[in-house]
Amino acid sequence: MGRRKSKRAEIKTKKAGPGLETQFSCPFCNHERAVQVKIDLQHSTAQAKCNSCTESFSSTQVNYLTQPVDVFHEWIDACEAANAGKSINTKSMHPQL
Ligand SMILES: [Zn+2]
Repeated sequence: MGRRKSKRAEIKTKKAGPGLETQFSCPFCNHERAVQVKIDLQHSTAQAKCNSCTESFSSTQVNYLTQPVDVFHEWIDACEAANAGKSINTKSMHPQL
């Protein structure tokens, strides 16, 4: 009874909770889970990068509350702004050096 297979692959911490997803579908090539977001709290920056088409986006508005999904949405917003023909620089949310 209850024989154990030596299968240790089951990880208890599988539940990462909402908002901790770090892989997203690419807004450019639509490749699922191709976009990886990396947050660098030390430098208050984050980068989202597609492994499929190598499009990337950098955010400089990162704080300890920022989650990968936020960076991804920022990228989407930037894309939409660009598509709408607006320059995202006019937002002046952060100084462009
Ligand atoms: Zn892509």
